[in-house]
Amino acid sequence: MNFNSHTDAVVSIAVGLVNALTEGEARGRPYAPPTGEARAAAVGDVLAAGDRRAPEVAEEEVDALAEVAGRLRGVFEAVTRGDVDAAALALNELLAETDARPHLDRHDGEPWHLHFHGAGGTLAGNYAAGCATGLAVVLGSELHDRLGVCTAPHCDRVYVDTSRNGTRRFCSTACQNRVKTAAFRARGA
Ligand SMILES: [Zn+2]
Repeated sequence: MNFNSHTDAVVSIAVGLVNALTEGEARGRPYAPPTGEARAAAVGDVLAAGDRRAPEVAEEEVDALAEVAGRLRGVFEAVTRGDVDAAALALNELLAETDARPHLDRHDGEPWHLHFHGAGGTLAGNYAAGCATGLAVVLGSELHDRLGVCTAPHCDRVYVDTSRNGTRRFCSTACQNRVKTAAFRARGA
């Protein structure tokens, strides 16, 4: 997308957290989030994607992030059903609760860039604040309808459409191919 690299990174993390930590269906199969150490590792992987340093995530931080992920899912679902008002209200609640506040930071030889930390200073609180802010930036832009839930059968994983013309409908190429194959079979039958 065309915001800045940090916003894009936290938006990707929001997508990653929702897809890893919320129950439902994924690519044609029922999906249950991993538990215990596997869940902590999955969260570490998601957080590392936006940052070079993969953090160790404590159990209670994972619990907090799982709760946030459920609420972030609600934002994607609201946008998908065209209820942008509900999405905005949900994000405003999260921004208030996490006490997200902009803070210019410079580390690891990078130029100054904007972080959105919560006041609590916990890892989960910081990422919750960052994810809420990232989605709020998207929702407050002309690209607000780019938050989506996969339209393939038996899949409810979320995505952010970063394509140029905004025509993405699936969470993954796996789902895109499943739908294409099914359509091809239907034509052949
Ligand atoms: Zn999908």
